[in-house]
Amino acid sequence: MVVPYKHEPFTDFLVEENKHAFEAGLKVVHSYLNQDYDLVIGGERVSTKDKIISINPANKEEIIGTVSKATREHAEKAMQIADVTFKSWRKSKPEVRADILFRAAAIVRRRKHEFSALLVKEAGKPWNEADADTAEAIDFMEYYGRQMLSLKDGIPVESRQIEYNRFNYIPLGVGIVISPWNFAFAIMAGMTSAAFVSGNTVLLKPASTTPVVAAKFIEVLEEAGLPPGVVNYVPGSGAEVGDYLVDHPQTRFISFTGSREVGVRIYERAAKVHEGQIWLKRVIAEMGGKDTIVVDSSADLELAAQSIVASAFGFSGQKCSACSRAVILEDVYDQVLTRVVEITKNLTVGDTKDSTIFMGPVNDQAAYEKILSYIEIGKAEGRLVAGGKGDNSQGFFIEPTIFADVSENARIMKEEIFGPVVAFCKARDFEHAIDIANNTDYGLTGAVLTNNRSHIEKAREDFHVGNLYFNRGCTGAIVGYQPFGGFNMSGTDSKAGGPDYLLLHMQAKTTSEML
Ligand code: GLU
Repeated sequence: MVVPYKHEPFTDFLVEENKHAFEAGLKVVHSYLNQDYDLVIGGERVSTKDKIISINPANKEEIIGTVSKATREHAEKAMQIADVTFKSWRKSKPEVRADILFRAAAIVRRRKHEFSALLVKEAGKPWNEADADTAEAIDFMEYYGRQMLSLKDGIPVESRQIEYNRFNYIPLGVGIVISPWNFAFAIMAGMTSAAFVSGNTVLLKPASTTPVVAAKFIEVLEEAGLPPGVVNYVPGSGAEVGDYLVDHPQTRFISFTGSREVGVRIYERAAKVHEGQIWLKRVIAEMGGKDTIVVDSSADLELAAQSIVASAFGFSGQKCSACSRAVILEDVYDQVLTRVVEITKNLTVGDTKDSTIFMGPVNDQAAYEKILSYIEIGKAEGRLVAGGKGDNSQGFFIEPTIFADVSENARIMKEEIFGPVVAFCKARDFEHAIDIANNTDYGLTGAVLTNNRSHIEKAREDFHVGNLYFNRGCTGAIVGYQPFGGFNMSGTDSKAGGPDYLLLHMQAKTTSEML
């Protein structure tokens, strides 16, 4: 019997022992900085001349690793191997596939702080955020393993006396997994695990700024007993390898997490049926957000302020779930704003190698420039009351930034910034606040702070987001507890870490035997 799923606990770094354990993890990561990582195609290591250089965004001089970069030829070879491997993998027992995930989760759990330390270095995550990322990777493996076990016998359907009917889920085929840098371990591992535990084979193209943690995950899967060719590691550029694989007639599905721009591009391209293709491709996309925290007059205002700060500036606001709009009822607006500014001005920003730093860098030069350009737009659209400056001399640092008195139709209220910037907007009443919250193309997360029961019910019905939270922040969904994913331009209405996620990677087959 598999023990029931429970999420991985977070680490308290105020406990000395945990702090030392994490420092030991950082030492392990230091011992393998600047190594070379090959592509992995059918279990074979393939080295290329052209490399992706992964750096520490907090310290541009520090190289995390150099990673081989796949060309179209490599992608084609990986596709053929994944296609052949699918023929046997699809018949492997679900129990065996789940066992590989349980073993992989156990390996990661033993090396937990090393993996989190790698995220500190490669993604610039503060310790607690890195710890949560690794915990979530473990959760995805544990949860999807169990989900597969619960699906293995299909779902009962009716049979008449003269027949025996069965309804089972079978895998799809070769999937392309294109994973993001912001949850470089959790989401990458979750998307990959869901795809292969349901019997598919995978071509994994991780984000170009965080390929090393993905290479380490491949090693874990190998150690856990995953046969060669089931998951192939093909980092490369979107234009060279991404488009090629999305267009490929042998691609059965694409699982993508990243920007709206790239998600829409994939969705459009995947819709085209290419010569030799005998199916309609499936796309699972998790894209952006423009997430709102609404503060009602009746709310606990201290809780509201703390929730806004944590959701807006945790991991420098680089979560699709991050709070980028605070919509406050006018009678409590000044009080909440003043308190948020006060907390924000005490936040520490810097290289997260130090456990006390609250906020690290942003992802890379492009992110740095984009966020600063939005801060310039914000200066014309609102009143800058905290932050506003960047410094990229050593790493890509941007101060936590707050704009007050922003109108509901301003660009910084509508467009995803994906950085530590939050706009404050005043609402006349609760209904107006919900209207403003819905006034976006996205529909990912949202939170309402209120002690008014009828307002909770109104928001439950009318606040149109995939993940709605009451009296807490809008980030930090937990696998199996708060299935995660959004509406509208936030994606394909899929819910990672939820009971129906694996089904997106499978198709149902009905068999009916006459007796
Ligand atoms: N699942 C994460 C959360 O609830 C966000 C994932 C993302 O940013 O892609 O905060």
